[in-house]
Parts: sequence; structure tokens; C-alpha cells
Amino acid sequence: MNLHEYQGKEILNSYGVRIQRGIVAQNANEAVAAAKQLTAETGTGWHVIKAQVHAGGRGKGGGVKLAKSLKEVEEIAGKIIGMQLITPQTSKEGKKVHQVLVAEDVYYPGPTETSEFYVSVLLNRATGRNMIMYSTEGGMDIETVAEETPDLIFTEEVDPSVGLMPFQARRIAFNLGLSGNAFKEMTKFVTSLYTAYVKSDASLFEINPVLKTSDDKIMAVDAKVTIDDNAMFRHKDYQDLRDLREESAIEVEAGALGLNYVDLDGNVGCMVNGAGLAMATMDLIKQAGGEPANFLDVGGTADAARVEAAFRIILKDPQVKAILINIFGGIVRCDRVAQGVIDAYKNMGNISVPIIVRLQGTNADIAKELIDKSGFDVMSATEFQEAADKVQAVLA
Ligand code: GDP
Ligand code: MN
Repeated sequence: MNLHEYQGKEILNSYGVRIQRGIVAQNANEAVAAAKQLTAETGTGWHVIKAQVHAGGRGKGGGVKLAKSLKEVEEIAGKIIGMQLITPQTSKEGKKVHQVLVAEDVYYPGPTETSEFYVSVLLNRATGRNMIMYSTEGGMDIETVAEETPDLIFTEEVDPSVGLMPFQARRIAFNLGLSGNAFKEMTKFVTSLYTAYVKSDASLFEINPVLKTSDDKIMAVDAKVTIDDNAMFRHKDYQDLRDLREESAIEVEAGALGLNYVDLDGNVGCMVNGAGLAMATMDLIKQAGGEPANFLDVGGTADAARVEAAFRIILKDPQVKAILINIFGGIVRCDRVAQGVIDAYKNMGNISVPIIVRLQGTNADIAKELIDKSGFDVMSATEFQEAADKVQAVLA
């Protein structure tokens, strides 16, 4: 589950990580009220207005703007709320902005220069450890840094059973070129950031930029947080943080039906049992020259009801020009799945795209016969490659 910046910052704050203070607003009036409250609490004169959408690169897309008066707060918030924000990380249609974070301006002048760092905590699946990635080159172009000067990005591996050791936190602060109070603040920052990551069962905490203010405070100016869905049962209070407006409507619907569905850009709909077979099916479609329209794991019990639900979800995507059903009958018997496909096809009545079914495993021969004799526009295949070739043939 992905969080908004303001939600991520609230979690950080609860674990003692210093953050740029802000208040979320749904419209221009709320934004002005938020700005007034922030001025009363922090003394800030200027505010930044930040679009809250699940996508990075908002600054580049015009979704982060400095307001130097309450009038500007009202104007900018009014403009950003409701806009289609297009950033390097959104589709070309962009994302609709429903709310903004009104935050204190933390780039104020002072005795030292401000600096922007990059710090993230994530899971290194290769080593089975948590990893802190960090760089002196924080700000809006970290992707370019990673591509062109990867040596400027450091990593610190953390043994999850031991946790982040004090010497590791000091090494990070040292490598970031800090000294004095900023050094101390950074060791505290990464230590509490790591705690927040572990305690919230996150798979990612990306803070870019981490700001060293002109008076040597270290704080999170941005927060990209992903909570591990498998741990959500331990965090009932995070349930409310989910913003369905930010998620693909069709994926949300599939999830409610218990189907594991991921929307993709191609035109071949896939219905498969088992995630591994689903991945292999997508590979084979690509190899045969096609493009999968989705990933869909219908699970072990591919009965008529589930097959029908899966058909409905797949056919919501207007790009789908053919459907490949690839089922391995291990526990589930192929003839039952074949009957399920035929029943679902009959029930729906209006399926106009060709369907290729490849059933392999227990009772595959009976299943093939059922399909071949059904009289519907459903083609059967026995071999994996044969199925992919048939898909290509109907698309040609
Ligand atoms: P992103 O573009 O989606 O990553 O959004 P960020 O939250 O990282 O903000 C983008 C940029 O806005 C930052 O890199 C800063 O340079 C700038 N910014 C953020 N907060 C402030 C602020 O308080 N004052 C000023 N002047 N700039 C800010
Ligand atoms: Mn950022």
C-alpha cells in the first residue's frame, strides 16, 4: 500500500523523525486556514503548496509551489487542487489532484548553506537484509544521479536481527560530509527513520530531499512510503490511510473479488492459475510477438464463478482483443475448469473476443473434448507454444 506524503510524514513524526511541518487541505479556503495555523505555530511567513498524489516528480510537473503570501496560498492551492498533474512518474494523462499539503517554508536563509540529501530504507532481497541508501546529491534529480554517477550513491546494509548500529548511523552522517550539530542530527535522523521503517512494516521509506537547514537542523521535506500489504493485519490503524482514488479502479474491484490482477498495456488478456505460471504466460505471449493486457492469477479453485468474475474483469479493459486461458490442473481437475469456462461463456452471452484455452494436467483430454464440442468461439490448445501461436493467429 502506498501512502501520501502527508501520511508518511505523520508516521515519521510519530517515531521522532524531524519533518517539515504541514497541514493537508481539500480546497483553497482550507489551505489559507492551514497556512495561518502554521504561521501561528512555527512563525513561518512563506509556505509551500504540495500536490498530494501517489507519484513522484511533482516538483518538475508544477505540483510543488512556493507561496509568499496568504493571497498566493489561496491562488496556488486553487490552481493545484483539481489539476491533472503530469510528472515523469505518471501516465501521459497525469493524475488528478484532490488535496494539497500546505507546509512551512524550510529553505529560509541563515548562518550556513542549506543542502539536500537523499536517504531511503528498503529491503535488499538479494541479501535478505534491510538497506539504507543515501547520497549527497539529493533533490529532484536522484534518478539521473543513479544513472550517470552511481558512485555517488552509498549503501549501508543492516542485519534485521541486530538493527542499525550506532557506528553505522555515524558512518552515514560522516559520508554525507556533515559535522557539528548537523552530524548529530543526522545520526538521530537515520536511527529513528530506520525504527519507523521496521515498526511500520514498510517495504520502502524514501526521503528526498532530506534537508540540512541553514541553522543545521536535519529534516524530511518529502516522504514516499510503501507499507507491506502482507503486514496490514498488524496495522488496523493504517487501513484508513488507503486512498482508493489513487489506485487503479479495476485492480481495486479485482481485489474485492479475491483475484490477483495487475493492469498492463497490451491487448492479450490472460487468465491463469498460479502466479508463476501467470508470469511464464506473459513471457510467452511477448515471445510470440504479443503484449499481455494484464497479469491475473485466478488461484487454485478456478470454478465457473471465479472464471466468470475473471472474464468480467479482463473484458473491462477495452484494449483486450483476445483472451488466453492457461490452467494447469494439479489439484483442480481440467474438465471442471473447462466446464467453468463454457458455463461462464454461456452466462455472459456477449463475449466477442476470441478465447484460446490451454488446459494441461489431470483430465486434460476430457477438458479438450468438452471445449471442442461446446460450439462456442473457444479454441483449445494442448501445448503452451501452440496456445501462444493461436493467440497471434487470431490477432493477425
Ligand atoms: P517531488 O518533486 O515529488 O519529489 O516533491 P518534493 O517534496 O521533493 O519537492 C520538490 C522540491 O520542492 C524539493 O526538492 C525542494 O527543492 C522544493 N521544496 C520543498 N519544500 C520547500 C520549501 O519549504 N521551500 C522551498 N523554497 N522549496 C521547497
Ligand atoms: Mn521528492
